[in-house]
Amino acid sequence: MIYNTGRLDGYVSCVKETKNTSWWAQFCQRHNIPTHIWLPILGYTRVWAEHYYRYAGDTANHGAEATKIFFHTIFHRIKSIFDAGSRYFPAGFDKSTIYAKDAIQPHEVKENVFSTYWVGHATQIYTIPYYKAGGELSSFTVVTDPVQGHLNFFLYPRLTREGVMVQEYPQINVIFLSHAHRDHCDEGTLRLLLKTQRASYNSEPVVLTTKGSYGMLKAIGFRHVIEMLPGDYVTFENNSIRIVSVDSLHWANMCSHDAHTSAFHGACIGSNALSGSIYFAGDTALPYEWVTNEMTKHCGRIACSMQPGGPDGPWMETTHQSSAAGLLMHMRLLKKHLGDEKNYSLSELLAKPLHTVYMHTKTFKLGAIRFNDTDESIARVLNALRAIGSLENIDIKNNPACSALTAPEEHVVHEILKIASTIMFRDDNGVIVKGVPAPVVVKILEQQVRIPKIGERVDLDLNAQADGTWHHGASDQNELQQDQHAAEIAA
Ligand SMILES: [Zn+2]
Repeated sequence: MIYNTGRLDGYVSCVKETKNTSWWAQFCQRHNIPTHIWLPILGYTRVWAEHYYRYAGDTANHGAEATKIFFHTIFHRIKSIFDAGSRYFPAGFDKSTIYAKDAIQPHEVKENVFSTYWVGHATQIYTIPYYKAGGELSSFTVVTDPVQGHLNFFLYPRLTREGVMVQEYPQINVIFLSHAHRDHCDEGTLRLLLKTQRASYNSEPVVLTTKGSYGMLKAIGFRHVIEMLPGDYVTFENNSIRIVSVDSLHWANMCSHDAHTSAFHGACIGSNALSGSIYFAGDTALPYEWVTNEMTKHCGRIACSMQPGGPDGPWMETTHQSSAAGLLMHMRLLKKHLGDEKNYSLSELLAKPLHTVYMHTKTFKLGAIRFNDTDESIARVLNALRAIGSLENIDIKNNPACSALTAPEEHVVHEILKIASTIMFRDDNGVIVKGVPAPVVVKILEQQVRIPKIGERVDLDLNAQADGTWHHGASDQNELQQDQHAAEIAA
């Protein structure tokens, strides 16, 4: 598959990269020597070669947080033997409700119809329509963070089955890896995926990964590995598909010795047959608003956003956004769609093609979490919004419907209402009011946000409908094409 790489002009990333200037570190970097494989115990070259942090002066102690997750998981797994309340599944839970048995891909490729199939955790298979250079409609397949089986049978077992096994994957064009953490990047799964893709389709996926993880993927045997930092992009099929690396607020390590030796990111995927981009958030703390703004500035309208559902924990927020934060991200992106100028009726607001689909939940016990955490958190937030009603005299602290909210949920409710109060809105009588009432926000969220079942395929029509100004990254795409055209002329 032919691809081109490039970097977005002026993209401001929050990833801080520091480099070691010693000749040995530089030598290894220049020759892509996978030193952590040669020196599995020490791994010092990689540790000394590069460091990646979320921003300059990041003081979060990621190692301590990972250790807490580890011990909480063990503690609650032992506790659950005696205490039903600590179990991953609630008492009497009907496990048949967990799974769907959908086909991975739709039969027919349609313009503007994007499909996402949930394998489990952060593994999703996207079927993306695109137009080939000759004008023929075709489809492009991306798998995100493929992980199969247990992270560790004793410590981090897989608690729900995969929707589909790697051996049954369709032909995959791109593997997108968000970062080197074991629940997102598994060497065994990647090796099996490469082998089965070669055997079944006589083809090999291109791997888009973070800077610092090239050596590991080359050692597995992948021939096409592209390292990215936020702001880098790769285009496929003559610019028909563009995948941009965007910021996430996280960190990476596979073992104790290699913390911060590779970067972390999410993806924005655009296609010439989609009127908006697909945003895969990866694993992230709640992004700063400027991070989201930077992404939408460069990638155009987001039509579908894949949001992590926790893990929800009181001390996890430095690297993991809460389940409720996915709702806030939805509102931020919706506000971006609407801009400041236009006034919509309720039906128009509901028809706006923005979708949020949850992932990174319902698979592994990472800390003191349970299977239903994401559902319950979203239900609490929606209940609170329903009870709050009008945007005047909001008193979250003294509203009994808000008493069940956790601290991150309370923050989310607050922020959602702040955004809602800025949206101009045409009521049923045609009168323009400023501020979407909380129950209308609930309707929007109920209609546009979903937590799929494992093994469910969600087909989303991303058509921008009436608003003709919403063309994904039109200026960027044009620039790309012009650049290429100029290069051709020069050649
Ligand atoms: Zn994760």
